Amino acid sequence: MGRAFVYVILGGGVAAGYAAFEFSKRGISHGELCIISEETFAPYERPALSKGFLLPEDSARLPSFHTCVGTNEERLTPKWYKEHGIELVLGTRVKSADVRRKTLLTAAGETISYKILIVATGARALKLEEFGVNGSDAENVCYMRDLADATRLVSVMQSCVGGNAIVIGGGYIGMECAASLVINKINVTMVFPEAHCMPRLFTPKIAGYYEDFYKSKGVKFIKGTVLSSFENDTSGKVTAVILRDGTRLTADMVMVGIGIRPNTILFEGQLTLEKGGIKVNGHMQTSNSSVYAVGDVAAFPVKLFGEIRRLEHVDSARKSARHAVAAIMAPEKTRGDFDYLPFFYSRVFTLSWQFYGDNVGEVVHYGDFSGRSFGAYWINKGKLVGSFLEGGTKEEYEAIAKVTRLQPVVADIAELERQGLGFALSV
Ligand code: FAD
Ligand code: NDP
Repeated sequence: MGRAFVYVILGGGVAAGYAAFEFSKRGISHGELCIISEETFAPYERPALSKGFLLPEDSARLPSFHTCVGTNEERLTPKWYKEHGIELVLGTRVKSADVRRKTLLTAAGETISYKILIVATGARALKLEEFGVNGSDAENVCYMRDLADATRLVSVMQSCVGGNAIVIGGGYIGMECAASLVINKINVTMVFPEAHCMPRLFTPKIAGYYEDFYKSKGVKFIKGTVLSSFENDTSGKVTAVILRDGTRLTADMVMVGIGIRPNTILFEGQLTLEKGGIKVNGHMQTSNSSVYAVGDVAAFPVKLFGEIRRLEHVDSARKSARHAVAAIMAPEKTRGDFDYLPFFYSRVFTLSWQFYGDNVGEVVHYGDFSGRSFGAYWINKGKLVGSFLEGGTKEEYEAIAKVTRLQPVVADIAELERQGLGFALSV
């Protein structure tokens, strides 16, 4: 049993949706392209899951956030794929891949062959078990990676209104889900091992601002320790968490966000890996010329930094996917290398920030940290390489993106601090 396609996208997440859109814009024939996804939904904008989807009122629900609404483009519903002759093979896990034979084998036993494969398998949430803590299969312990997780979280939240949630992890999921839990009238305690939240990006000063804001909403922080075990009732539900420092916290629910691992397993031993992902060139092409990799699973050359990076953010998933399709479809001499400026953002409560570039080197903070207009620049080897801004306007965010891409030489750090956002706006 088998089917054959010219193009196959493996994975049905953000990158898959944007790749399909780019294929349709560039013109493919009906029946040439298929998307295989373990999820039972057509590609959707994953960021909605920890934001609009969790709101108690006017919550976002499919079909409203199918790709590509995140960039104000067409919303690709299942009907759109049908009309464009793109096969959606949903609810289907690929269990093995053979890049030499150009075939994929599904869990149901079907062989799907391709001429060109785009790997867009994203990542999976790390489980507490991987850190030696058992019990994360209890019905009131939640993770957050896909729509099924988000749907489950909504139902657990609804049964815990007025109760206590323990949020494990102070990264993106921890911060965004903690805000949503508060909005759903649940008392939140955040637990993480580092000295402050968002340690991979925030400076202590920036983190301090967000932590104070969260505290003003009633959130408690327990830092410098990790979860060591759960206490359960007779039905198996978690009733308390025990931390490594001995603290016991009663819990009606637990939300875990402790990082991800890229889904590379199908290709280990077949494609070159780097930085935990599948290594690609500037065309998003892997060590096998018929296979491309995009989104969270791809480790690609960031020209601006002169090194290979793997990014776990939606903007790079969208743009790397479109770039791969452009590289596949465009005439050879018009193909350029992916030239990407890393961009991260988040929105919590009434706050919203954007970051561009790289957070290495010396940090210069500016603005009013007691109000809502502040930011930071990162200066590395005498050049501005990273910019952060909270509460900016569209024009201000465009200005920090532009200045970061230009990497201007900064001769006088004190003067940069004095000018603050004005520096970006003047470039
Ligand atoms: P995914 O979107 O994860 O898609 C991977 C797909 O592959 C899934 O459908 C999966 O089921 C499928 N798959 C994997 N293995 C197989 C297999 N063997 N067979 C079949 N199918 C398979 N980034 C931001 O920049 N800003 C945000 O605000 C933001 N919010 C986020 C909120 C949440 C809750 C999450 C989880 C992530 C968020 N991100 C955000 C990160 C962003 O969503 C990801 O970077 C992006 O989704 C990556 O796209 P992708 O297509 O590579 O992977
Ligand atoms: P992150 O990597 O952002 O954060 C995980 C945090 O948990 C880190 O601070 C990590 O610390 C900490 N941690 C690790 N192990 C433990 C442990 N045993 N106990 C407590 N804390 C621990 O991952 P998330 O899970 O928050 O997010 C998952 C993915 O979703 C990421 O790719 C993220 O980019 C994406 N996402 C992005 C959003 C956005 O861009 N706005 C929003 C939501 C999700 P350490 O660094 O020391 O390992």
